[in-house]
Amino acid sequence: MKPAPFAYVAATSVQHAIEALAAAGGDGKIIAGGQSLMPMLNFRLVRPSVLVDINRIPGLDRIEDTGKMLRIGALVRHRLTASDPLIAHHVPVLHEAMNHVAHHTVRNRGTFCGSLCHADPAAEMPMMALLLDAVVEITGPAGTRHLPVREFLVASLTTDLAPDELVTAVEIAKPAPGTGWGFAEFARRHGDYALACVAALVESRDGAACNVRIAAMGIGDTALRLSAAEAALEGSGFSDEEITRAVSALRDEIEPMSDLSGSADYRRHLAGELARNVLGEAWRRAAPEVP
Ligand code: FAD
Repeated sequence: MKPAPFAYVAATSVQHAIEALAAAGGDGKIIAGGQSLMPMLNFRLVRPSVLVDINRIPGLDRIEDTGKMLRIGALVRHRLTASDPLIAHHVPVLHEAMNHVAHHTVRNRGTFCGSLCHADPAAEMPMMALLLDAVVEITGPAGTRHLPVREFLVASLTTDLAPDELVTAVEIAKPAPGTGWGFAEFARRHGDYALACVAALVESRDGAACNVRIAAMGIGDTALRLSAAEAALEGSGFSDEEITRAVSALRDEIEPMSDLSGSADYRRHLAGELARNVLGEAWRRAAPEVP
């Protein structure tokens, strides 16, 4: 299939892009890497009257260290996020996750921010942004606002973004030094969308767990933070029994869907076992001295 006809604007600045979106009267669409939007255009699932291309806007293609945060610009491709030394050093869990995203051709074009805006419940980036308590930088006619990603992601393929706004960056707070991390996903082939995926962060203070963060995807209509499982482990010593209790809390708090790839029961079981592995891995990194 081919897209329905549309006008095309190659924006040269953020202001130019906002003006073009405003002129489209709510019927414009940003194109970044095009890795999700082009198939949707070709299948005529979306029919914008104007496509606003942000690829020529200078300054959006960088990952910057701003002190406590890493700032990922709107044109940072998956390839850069996966290989950037700042990410690998400060946020190794994200470095690991990026190596599971798609294949080289998609990684060369797709952007972290584009994935957040697309809000696919089976994508790694929204889930990792939730895990890392990321804040989305949004610019529109009224100026720039910052929104926690928890509020930005509304539902499957739905965000809080207005039609005349664009995401200019996402900011990720660097986890405290020594934070343990774990990541695991189950996909039929490496690089395919995963059936389920879990990631965790934990800090150890004198052998007790704190700041436990667990996120998952593939088990609901958005990526999720698993607050009951987090609460079950806060202050614990991460013994096998405590992890089992947290896995049980996790299985109770999710509502997976059944589809051709697996039943709801299968996904619930899978998410629990992925979580068990990920939590053990994260704790071993956070508290290597604890037997
Ligand atoms: P685009 O396709 O350009 O845009 C997507 C949507 O976001 C559009 O609605 C667009 O208007 C909007 N948008 C984009 N940028 C902005 C912005 N800055 N401000 C406002 N709105 C914006 N993803 C995974 O997570 N895991 C995978 O395993 C995976 N496998 C894939 C395999 C294939 C074969 C393909 C084609 C894609 C795959 N993807 C996967 C999706 C890929 O990661 C996309 O690149 C990503 O979802 C969207 O980023 P993009 O820059 O290409 O956005």
